[in-house]
Amino acid sequence: MISGERLKNILLSTKLGPITPFFGIVNGNCECGKPPNDKHKPGKHPRAGGWQHKNATTDHATIRQWFGQYPDANFAAITGIDTVVLDLDVRPGGPGKPAKDGIAELAHLENTAAQQIPPTVTVFSGSGTGAKHLYFAIPQNVGQLQKPKGTTAIDFQRSRQAVIVPGSRHASGHFYTFAPGLSPDEVEVADLPDWILALMQKNAAATRTTTTITDDIGKLFDELLKIGPPPGSLPPGRLRPDEIVMRKMKTVPMRKYPDNRSHSDSHWAWTLARNCCHHWEQYLRLWKDSAIRTLPGTKCGRASYEADILEKAFVAQRQQWKSKLTQRPIDETANPAIAKYIRKRAATHREVPRSPITQAVLALHHRKPDLDDNGIARVLNAKGTLDREVTRNNVKRIRHSYEHLW
Ligand SMILES: [Zn+2]
Repeated sequence: MISGERLKNILLSTKLGPITPFFGIVNGNCECGKPPNDKHKPGKHPRAGGWQHKNATTDHATIRQWFGQYPDANFAAITGIDTVVLDLDVRPGGPGKPAKDGIAELAHLENTAAQQIPPTVTVFSGSGTGAKHLYFAIPQNVGQLQKPKGTTAIDFQRSRQAVIVPGSRHASGHFYTFAPGLSPDEVEVADLPDWILALMQKNAAATRTTTTITDDIGKLFDELLKIGPPPGSLPPGRLRPDEIVMRKMKTVPMRKYPDNRSHSDSHWAWTLARNCCHHWEQYLRLWKDSAIRTLPGTKCGRASYEADILEKAFVAQRQQWKSKLTQRPIDETANPAIAKYIRKRAATHREVPRSPITQAVLALHHRKPDLDDNGIARVLNAKGTLDREVTRNNVKRIRHSYEHLW
């Protein structure tokens, strides 16, 4: 593979996740200079520390610069942010090592389930054995996953793991390549089918949560309306007009977490919850019609994912929903799976004790959301009920620490 083609493949791989430079293979040896052994995997380890968080990017200019700096480098995509990978290992057996055939194992799973994996972005490993990586999208709240049950040669790369991308060279001397017709230019990253997700979930409870909740978003909202607001909520008070709530929503930086759609969505949901906190119906309605759900590439539109962030937003807003009145029993819902799910989440949420200053800052912010850090400090100091002066920096720190409640 010539240099230009390598770079093209590497840049194309940014559609799979942020990219980070690894040591490459030169004349069959790892660029780092160490001999291969059990702990050293030639061409499969990062050039710099901290790759999981700092040294990975989708920025083409940065990647071009790295490529210029390390012309023989391999590159890896960090999974778990946009995509996850089914890693189908294929290798002949050797002394003391059984042969592996992930492709045959996947075919067996497909036959047993009478289902088929949809076409998705696929990479052939440079091992030359036919081993491949299949990229998929998964919902955010599926819980812990493991390799599919009953398999030995199918691995699952999920949270912040690095997967070598096309344009990189394997120790065998061959290059990693996109499978013909299955590059990110030609196919979308498919959703991981439910049937295979079910084989990868660690316990039956998790399976129940994701399979029972309806996939139809309209039905989900009907169910949530029936369930009503979370326990401890205030009865309906002052209703803010939709336009005002929506205007507040527009001030939320939608792309505050460009690398983490789930955080962006949650941040948005929290802001919405704060602005119509006594009005469950309004909250659901505005969320359902909101622009974020129609953004291109958004992972929204999956019922379990939406239920998860809506519910998280309300649990986080409990300070505002507190009431002496008892709520409608949550069990009245027509869908016990959703009720159980929300009840369980509410029960596991622990309130962390907060200092008087923190409490005062949060309370004032919620009463007067338009005050900036300076304004909050000034109002609290003017009141003089706290035992020490509140500075703008105190407010800023609290705003950052309690971002989810802000
Ligand atoms: Zn090395």
